Amino acid sequence: MCGIVGYVGNKENCVRVLIDGLEKLEYRGYDSAGIAFLNNDNIDVVKEKGKIVNLKSKIDLNINSNLGIGHTRWATHGNATKENAHPHKVGAITVVHNGIVENYNELKKDLINKGYVFNSETDTEVVAALIDYIYKKEKDMLKTIQKVKELLTGSYALGIICDDNLDTLYTLKNKSPLIIGVNENENYIASDVPAILDKTRNYIVLEDKDYASIKSDGVKIYHDGKEKDFEVKEFLYDANSVDKQGYEHFMLKEMNEQPEVFKNTTTPYLKNGIDSLIEKMPDFTKYERIRIVACGSATHAGLVGKCMIEKYANVEVMVETASEFRYKKQFLKNDELVIVVSQSGETADTLEALLIAKQNGNDTLGIVNAKGSTIARESKMVLYTEAGQEIAVATTKAYSAQVALLSLIALNLSCKKNLIDKKEMLDILRDVKKLPDYIEELLNRRDEYKKIAEEIKDYNDVFFIGRGVDYALAQEGSLKLKEISYTHSEAYAAGELKHGTISLIEDKTPVIAVITDDDIALKTISNVKEVKSRGANVICITNKNLSNDSNLYDKKIVIPKVNDLFEPLLTVIPLQMIAYELAKLKECSIDKPRNLAKSVTVE
Ligand code: GLU
Repeated sequence: MCGIVGYVGNKENCVRVLIDGLEKLEYRGYDSAGIAFLNNDNIDVVKEKGKIVNLKSKIDLNINSNLGIGHTRWATHGNATKENAHPHKVGAITVVHNGIVENYNELKKDLINKGYVFNSETDTEVVAALIDYIYKKEKDMLKTIQKVKELLTGSYALGIICDDNLDTLYTLKNKSPLIIGVNENENYIASDVPAILDKTRNYIVLEDKDYASIKSDGVKIYHDGKEKDFEVKEFLYDANSVDKQGYEHFMLKEMNEQPEVFKNTTTPYLKNGIDSLIEKMPDFTKYERIRIVACGSATHAGLVGKCMIEKYANVEVMVETASEFRYKKQFLKNDELVIVVSQSGETADTLEALLIAKQNGNDTLGIVNAKGSTIARESKMVLYTEAGQEIAVATTKAYSAQVALLSLIALNLSCKKNLIDKKEMLDILRDVKKLPDYIEELLNRRDEYKKIAEEIKDYNDVFFIGRGVDYALAQEGSLKLKEISYTHSEAYAAGELKHGTISLIEDKTPVIAVITDDDIALKTISNVKEVKSRGANVICITNKNLSNDSNLYDKKIVIPKVNDLFEPLLTVIPLQMIAYELAKLKECSIDKPRNLAKSVTVE
C-alpha cells in the first residue's frame, strides 16, 4: 500500500531513479503518483492521477537532478485526484507520506488560524504545513522533526525535503514501514527494498519514531533527540523474484512456485523426521489455548491452522480478524499463545494486535514471510514462511506457506504430546515427499479450470460451500475470486445455507462445493444435494470417489488424497486457478486488482 522512494547522490539520474523505483513499487497498489526533485536550485513537483505512465508522460526523464522524493498514493483522506496526490509542498517543505495522521483535523484548524491555506483534502498536506510552521521558528530541520514527531498521532512514513538544505533528505517514521538504502556516494529511502534492489542490496530498517538526515555521503539516524547507531543489513532474496520469468502474470508464476515453496518451508523441519521437527520449533506444549490473529487470506490460513491444531494436537484455537480484535475485549488468558500471521510483516492491524498481546503479557509467535519486518522483530518468537518475494496483490504461495507452517505446528504439538501414532507419522512423511509433484500436477490441469471459468463467467454470484477445514478453504477460494475476477461470491458453511441464503439459488447458480474432510463429507454431500435440487450448477472439488451422479454435481475436480494434515495445500490449487482463469477471461488486472494493495500499512 502506497510507495515511497527517495534519492540523494551524484551517481544516478535522480528523476529516473524515482520513476524506476515507483514502478517497482506498483505492485503494492496505488491510485495516483508524483515526484519532487531538485531542478536548478528549485524543487519541482509533478503529480498525476492514475498510473505511473501518466506521470511519466509529464516529465523530462533526462533532467539533471541529484535529490528527490517520489510517491504512489493509496488514498485514505480525499479522493484519488491530482490535487490530493503527493508530494505536497508547503512553504519551504515538500513531503511524501504513507499512513494516516489521526489528529490532522485539529492540526489543520490550528494551522488555518495561523494563516495556512490548503489545496488538498489530505492529512499529508497538514503535515507539510506543520513542519513548515515549526521550521520557520526553529530554523533547524532536526529540531523541527523532533518537535513534529511529538505533535503527530497515527501512522506515518515521511520523506521530507527542505528548500534550505538541498543536499539532504529527511525521514521520520511511526507504524508505517520505511528503509534507507545505502551505497557509496548515494543513498536512498524506500517503502521496501525491491524499489531499489537494482541499485543496492544494503539497507537500514528504521524503528518507530526514528528520524534521519541522509546526504549523498552519509546517513545519520536519531531517536528522542540523540543520534543512534544502526545496522546495515543485506537483502538476501533473489532479485529474479521480482521478474515474471516468462509467466503471463506474477500470480501465475507465484502459484507455480508452490511446489518449491512447500519444500522450502517444510524441509528444515522434516528433513530428519520427528527429530528435526522437535528441535527446530519452539516448545508450544505449555499453552492451554492458542489465538490466531490475522487479516484477509492470512486469517483463512489461520482457520485451516485451527482445524489442524485442534485435530492433531487437541489444543483449543480461536481465530480472529485483527481489525476487530484490536478494538474489542480480548479476554486473553495467561496460558494463551497469540500467533499473528502476515505475509509482509507490516500489516497495520495485525501489528497492533501483536502489540496488544505483548502488552497483556502473552507470549507471541509471528508467522511472517518478509525477513526482518516489523512483526518479525516485535514477536517474541518468529517462524518464517519461505515463500520468497510475492508480487501479485492476491496472495497464493505465501498463503500456502502459512498453511504449511501452521500444519507443522500441529504436527509438532501432536508428536510432543504423543498423540500421533508411528504409522500415521510415516504416512505424513511419505506424503510430504509426494506433495510437490501433486501440486504441480494440479497446477497443470488448466483446461479443467478454464472450462469452469467459461461456465461461471456470466453469473453475478458464485457460492462456495464446505464444512470444517473445507469451509476454511471455501472462504479462501471465495476471496480469491472476488479479489481478482471482481465476481461477487460468498463462502458458507455448507450446513448454514438452508438458514437463509439458499433462497438465492436459482437455475444454474454456480456453487463450488469443497468435499475433502472424511469426517464430515457425507453431511456436505447432503447439503450439495439440497442446492442441486434447486437448480444450482454444482462444481465439486473433492478427493472422494464420488459416483457419477448427475443429481449430485455437474462437474468435479478430483484431487489426490493425502493425509488430512496437508490436504488443504492440494485443495487450494483448483480454487486459486479457477479464480485466475476467470479473471483472465474477464480481462481483469490480475496482478494489481483495483482498489487493493499488497502491504496494507493503514488500519
Ligand atoms: N493519508 C495519506 C493520503 O490520503 C497517505 C495515503 C497513503 O499512504 O498513500 O494522502
